[in-house]
Amino acid sequence: MAMIAGRNGNGEEQDVMHEYALVPLKNVVVFPKIRVNLTITRPRSVRAVLDADKSTRVLVVVTQRHPDTEDPRPDDLNEVAMLVDLISVHPQNDGSVVALVEGTKRVHIEGWLGQDPYPRVAVTRIPEPTPTSKAAELLVRHAHELFEHFIPYNHKFTPDDISQIQVIHSCSRLADSLAAHIVSDSRRQQELLETIDPEKRLEMVCVILGNEIEIQELDQRIRQRVRDQVDRNQQEYYLKEQVRAIMKELGNDSATEIMEMRERIRTLGMPETIMFKVLKELDKLERLPATSAEINVLRNYIDMMMALPWQARTQDQLDLKAAKKLLDVEHYGLANIKDRVLDFLAVRQLRSRRAQHLAREEGTQDDQYAANQAANRGPILCFIGPPGVGKTSLGASIARAMGRKFVRISLGGVHDEAEIRGHRRTYIGALPGRIIQAMRSVGVKNPVFLLDEVDKLASDYRGDPAAALLEVLDPEQNNTFTDHYLEAPFDLSEVFFICTANARYQIPRALADRMEIVEIAGYTLEEKAAIGRRHLWPKVLKEAGYESDQISLTDRALRYIIESYTHEAGVRSLERQLAAICLKIARSVYLNPGLHKRITPHQVEEYLGVPRFLGEHALDQDQVGVATGMAWTESGGTLLRVEVAVMTGRGSIRLTGQQGDVMQESAHTGHSYIRTRADSLGIPTNFADQYDMHIHLPEGAIPKDGPSAGITIAAAMISALTGRPIRADTAMTGEITLRGNVFPIGGLKEKVLAAHRVGIRRIILPADNRKDVSEIPEPILRVMEFKYVRRMEEVEDAILRDPVEDADGHAMHLIAQGGDRDDDQQIPRSDGRPDEVDQRNRNQTPPTPPEPPSLPDLPTARPPRQARKPKK
Ligand code: ADP
Repeated sequence: MAMIAGRNGNGEEQDVMHEYALVPLKNVVVFPKIRVNLTITRPRSVRAVLDADKSTRVLVVVTQRHPDTEDPRPDDLNEVAMLVDLISVHPQNDGSVVALVEGTKRVHIEGWLGQDPYPRVAVTRIPEPTPTSKAAELLVRHAHELFEHFIPYNHKFTPDDISQIQVIHSCSRLADSLAAHIVSDSRRQQELLETIDPEKRLEMVCVILGNEIEIQELDQRIRQRVRDQVDRNQQEYYLKEQVRAIMKELGNDSATEIMEMRERIRTLGMPETIMFKVLKELDKLERLPATSAEINVLRNYIDMMMALPWQARTQDQLDLKAAKKLLDVEHYGLANIKDRVLDFLAVRQLRSRRAQHLAREEGTQDDQYAANQAANRGPILCFIGPPGVGKTSLGASIARAMGRKFVRISLGGVHDEAEIRGHRRTYIGALPGRIIQAMRSVGVKNPVFLLDEVDKLASDYRGDPAAALLEVLDPEQNNTFTDHYLEAPFDLSEVFFICTANARYQIPRALADRMEIVEIAGYTLEEKAAIGRRHLWPKVLKEAGYESDQISLTDRALRYIIESYTHEAGVRSLERQLAAICLKIARSVYLNPGLHKRITPHQVEEYLGVPRFLGEHALDQDQVGVATGMAWTESGGTLLRVEVAVMTGRGSIRLTGQQGDVMQESAHTGHSYIRTRADSLGIPTNFADQYDMHIHLPEGAIPKDGPSAGITIAAAMISALTGRPIRADTAMTGEITLRGNVFPIGGLKEKVLAAHRVGIRRIILPADNRKDVSEIPEPILRVMEFKYVRRMEEVEDAILRDPVEDADGHAMHLIAQGGDRDDDQQIPRSDGRPDEVDQRNRNQTPPTPPEPPSLPDLPTARPPRQARKPKK
């Protein structure tokens, strides 16, 4: 050390400059009265330390501005440095030394005196004021408080450090001590070193300390929270595992199961209120004694709730072009129907897209929900037609085209509201309604849901299922459809409902109002043959497990099956017959794998037995008293044969063959009409008093209420009374009034298809039905001849032939035969009492009630041929 200059202008000692060796430090700031172990590695610094160690044991240390500088120049060093005493020096093997130093004074580097072999600098001591104010005292106290507060957060403090700091009362020393122990950033430490005013320095330290405490507290709180959470989870896990293990040991697996169920219920995405309800039921289940009868009920309920699709849905992928293709591939013909279905789907799609767009704009989370709901806001698609025309399979195709799952329930015969809405759980054996059961089985909340046979819903004292169904179908209500069993609302608003029915007029009115009705009439023979060939035959072969070339079916055989083994508008029973053939051949093919079977009409009989439907065919010859009508039934159109026999009696009319009231009325109306026109028909005016009439409809199985058979019955009666045969090649339909007017009828298309099916090509229709003819498929229209009539007389003209005469020129009609006393012919009897009639004939007894009237009263033996000139 060397003294360089004298005093400053004021003669103060501190101006005296001294020369010292300089050791630059990286990242370390040494404060007065603080001992620090320094590891010195740079050779020049090592040299400086070793030299100092041998001489004055004093040197100057200063912190570099940048710790990365290896060989610092004067500019790279701070100007405020620390004069330190060298306490001990320990040379290390690698050439470095560890020096324990203690800061003594802040010094200011005034200039560099040389660089070799190590830097030497001239420094002046920096004087520092001694604060005595009250504020300084308070500041010291405050700093101590903060320090106390801080102690628990810093684990580096040794008890010595702490007690040493606690006894410092000097503002400056306290500031330096805290700066050395608490501040970790060397730059801030340097700042504090350079702050000469002790009060200011301590204030800065207090701010740093305050911040540090706050950070530490926050850190502590976060750590605590995380620890709490982890502890709780671990504790819960640990306890659960323990309970599980204990239960297992006790052989009580159900408790474990309940715990697992509880965990699963939380993941199912049920609305919260429902989830809590189910969890509550689960608690109840857990508490029930194992012998309780209620366990099963509760368990079934919870299982049901867990199995319902609360969140699961499929993603729609409707592409109209692909949908059209699919419908074409899966269904033959039905062009108009497919067009309407596609139009319907397009409208749905537009609604759905718009809703999705809006939902996205509004930032709605579940835009798919909004889209599905909006799509369902229109009318409900409803296919109406006879069985087997493809209503259900169209529904399934729609589902496939949309990429949705498909589910179907039949409502036929449902007359209990509970079948739709479920039973309350208080009932024994209670179950949810069919809707909820179907939703459970399909497992997604947006299936295509086919409600089959909505027209077969009945209502009775057990409630009105139609009303419940209305709630299911109504988009305003079905998002909270409440099944009695669930006791909680279930959201059906994403379900795409489609209905089917056989008869339009039987659909409950309120339902029909909400429907977009698409009618499918039935297929012609050609269409059935094409469907059979392209769809049904490959399908049944595949289902029966045959290779496609193992069995072949000739076209003639296919037609034979359609004509003689099925009697339907659709193709359901055709499919059954084809399947039956496959089944019959199975054994021989199984025993003979290489066998190839060819099925001809002959084989058909072999496999299916005697043809069943030879009955429905056109009459092969004109007959008296037999007329061919056409009827509409739920299974399509059918022929309706009417036979009339007239016999002596007392004017009664008897109907047999299962007719309903409407048919009775038609018969009586026709009868009265004929009486009013007896004269012009050439029938005795009092025929009604003396002859009974028996009207029979042989095809007993066809429901015959409302078949619009008025003109058919009247025609058969007139034919029977006049002996004029009815043309066998003609079928008719129409209602008749008392005055002989012919009224229009419904179900025209089905009726014409039925007549066409049996080979009839001439049809009599009410003139007012002319407009409906356009619904009939073109190929049929081309071969048909239609006679439009307004009056019964026109019907007669169109179908009655001249009376048939036997070889002797005698008319073959009943009244004429009976009335002709000169004729020796017997009256054909259909009442099974020929003897009595013979007796009456012989005795010629005048009729006296209650005896049947005697024949001689008849005014004329033969009908006046000229009365009506029948057209041939
Ligand atoms: P519905 O529901 O009208 O009673 P289904 O849909 O059950 O009739 O149809 C019965 C069978 O007939 C199904 O196998 C169906 O695929 C088939 N089918 C009906 N119409 C057609 C058609 N036009 N093309 C192909 N197959 C059809």
